[in-house]
Amino acid sequence: MELKEVREGLARILVPKAERIYDAPVFYNPLMALNRDISVLALKALGSRRVLDALSATGIRGIRYALETPAGEIWLNDINPNAFRLIVDNVKLNFSGELEIEGKMAVLEGEKTLVVTNADANRLMNEQFRYFDFVDLDPFGSPMEFLDSALRAVKRRGVLAITATDTGVLCGAYRNACLRKYLAEPIRGELCHEAGLRILIGTLVRYAAKYDLGVEVLLAYYRDHYFRAFLQLRNGAKTADKSMKQLGYLYQDESGKFEFENTFLPSKATAHGPLWLGPLKNQEFVEELHRLSAEHPLGSKKTQKFLGLLKDELEVPFFYDTHAVARRHGLEVRKLAGVIEILYEKGYKATRTHFSPTALKTDAPFEEVLEALREL
Ligand code: SAM
Repeated sequence: MELKEVREGLARILVPKAERIYDAPVFYNPLMALNRDISVLALKALGSRRVLDALSATGIRGIRYALETPAGEIWLNDINPNAFRLIVDNVKLNFSGELEIEGKMAVLEGEKTLVVTNADANRLMNEQFRYFDFVDLDPFGSPMEFLDSALRAVKRRGVLAITATDTGVLCGAYRNACLRKYLAEPIRGELCHEAGLRILIGTLVRYAAKYDLGVEVLLAYYRDHYFRAFLQLRNGAKTADKSMKQLGYLYQDESGKFEFENTFLPSKATAHGPLWLGPLKNQEFVEELHRLSAEHPLGSKKTQKFLGLLKDELEVPFFYDTHAVARRHGLEVRKLAGVIEILYEKGYKATRTHFSPTALKTDAPFEEVLEALREL
């Protein structure tokens, strides 16, 4: 395998040289740097000690956790033997000390403990029952095949960090796959990304509830064709019931107007879901990540800007995309800032949203948004 060295955060990482990322013998995607940056900041804010990077590839994520956060014991795992060897080399590149290799496991004991394994993630997570404070799942496509094991490997008050790159499935381009994997009816059109993220969280909540675990969403977002969610688990049947009560359904009519209902079963056949209707962020947590991003060594401006957008976003389910509403009503497209200002002047809250550069989140009724578009 031909390699080159890259730098990200405080890590130096050897990655395969390849024309296209999916041709490489070990996976590495530089575009996911922002995903890893935010994960590093989240782990820093949480202060979790025992961490599992269950699908590690080059090891870049786990190595950054070890270098840039207070985590004391970091496990890096991949089923691919080439990945295992590369992770071992990358650990050696970033840490001094003796790395003891025995078969499919390598351990470095030092100021930090690093454990590198070459195992099926499901097997490893089932063996390490309730061992980790923080479990990171960053798979190709859907995380669903790893979810049950992750919910067993993580402590009952631990945190799950989950990526899903199967946005086509969650956004309704492949409806049957969404029914199969997420047991939910997706929606097409302008709301598909937020609905997709909420379907993902809704499924995670239902899986966690089986173990009498409730879920608080610390932060969940959509970016660059993937979804990412940081979920704080809460112990007990009552907290699981509380989380289940935040599930529900979305309806959207031809005018673009949407409504949602908090129920276990939908009242109409046109329902999309079940999906999570609770918050997509804990405001204090996001403010802390934003603050940390400014002081983090080598922190990227892109990450800081994105966290700023998430921090300022109004916490209400769904949004109005001004282009989509204008198109549906034969209106001219207007500047988003102008529409937000009009709603503000009328006493409503309104902000931009990270889901779309042409959309706004507001507590104003749909008719007021339409009126504001007409007024301009
Ligand atoms: N987390 C990495 C990063 O930030 O660069 C990228 C991970 S890559 C998207 C997914 C990895 O999961 C691949 O390296 C693949 O070999 C590994 N993988 C797939 N199925 C697995 C399994 N059942 N157990 C362990 N690893 C698996």
